[in-house]
Amino acid sequence: MTHTGGCACGGVRFVVHGALAPVIACHCESCRRWSGYYWAAMEIPRERFEWTALATLAGWSSSPGVMRRFCRVCGASLCFDEAGADHIEIAPGAFDALTGQATIGHIYCAEAGDYYQLDAATPCYPYDEPPGGVPGG
Ligand SMILES: [Zn+2]
Ligand SMILES: [Zn+2]
Repeated sequence: MTHTGGCACGGVRFVVHGALAPVIACHCESCRRWSGYYWAAMEIPRERFEWTALATLAGWSSSPGVMRRFCRVCGASLCFDEAGADHIEIAPGAFDALTGQATIGHIYCAEAGDYYQLDAATPCYPYDEPPGGVPGG
């Protein structure tokens, strides 16, 4: 089972080998500015993730050890890549097909924008994930 995805213009393409993962939304200031709204991602084990086209891939180090990777042509925000992490965080909207996944948690809600409502049925954390991660993640 593989899941393909990429940016809006097609300059960057990737594949995930095996299952996808639930989505966690981050409402921190950095994610807000980078995405223009709030950022959300799936944590995919690094060994199951592969770039298949890199022609227009660019990156921005938003904090020490973190690269936010995007397409320099179409501007698609694609992944949050933290050095030393065993996973890479991929934008769910970049996949070609429906993901079959759900958003299971919201983090950094203390920094959330005022132009949307948080879903009361989904766990919201003021800052980072709780120890052990978001339940179900
Ligand atoms: Zn692109
Ligand atoms: Zn964030």
